[in-house]
Amino acid sequence: MRWLMTFLLGVLVGAAGLFVWLRQMPHEPAAPAVAVNTGSLPALPPPRSNLEGKLPPAPEVLPDLTELDLPLHPAATDTPAAAPAAAPSVPPGKLLVPVDGIAPAKLTDTFDQQRGNERHHEALDIMAPKGTKVLAAADGKIVKLFTSKPGGLTIYEFDPTEKYAYYYAHLDRYADGLQEGAQVKRGDVIGYVGTTGNADPNAPHLHFAVFELTPEKQWWKGTPVDPYPLLQP
Ligand SMILES: [Zn+2]
Repeated sequence: MRWLMTFLLGVLVGAAGLFVWLRQMPHEPAAPAVAVNTGSLPALPPPRSNLEGKLPPAPEVLPDLTELDLPLHPAATDTPAAAPAAAPSVPPGKLLVPVDGIAPAKLTDTFDQQRGNERHHEALDIMAPKGTKVLAAADGKIVKLFTSKPGGLTIYEFDPTEKYAYYYAHLDRYADGLQEGAQVKRGDVIGYVGTTGNADPNAPHLHFAVFELTPEKQWWKGTPVDPYPLLQP
């Protein structure tokens, strides 16, 4: 009996000792997020390509990175960043008016029109009867067929250099057989004018926008370019 008691006591003491020893072990290596505070910039996630269209638009920045960014760039709001993206780039060449039968002279530049409180239109509205053919403004690739609340039935086309995107919105329907990944030529019929999305049902038109893509070439993101001068001869 006595040896059993001694044995149990020994086990208890041993377990307690192990517990104390484990408590003193250093913790797991710090999470990578902590290393960001050393002053170096957080590594950006690898560029994501959604060109296959299988994923919904990803948030621009991961939420935890946004928070970590704040104390690292206290002066960011004082001095506008000398963004390399702001460097002037070669504008896309002349474009075809993307609505059948509309002459360039008939267009009105609505790029700077105020929409809502602070938002500018940043696109061109080309008025035309419902069902009028919508044409590819230039050679390119259909990268996304997308339905959105404001835009309704829309098409995103990339130019062959993949520096610019053309956006066609409020379509009544797509051209038969139009598919993501399809190569189109300038003047190809890609859809039909309509009033889908937030367009006035009594004012069918094509909402046409051009934007310069970011290096990530995300179809939903870019810097708007006024299409009007590009549509003039
Ligand atoms: Zn518009």
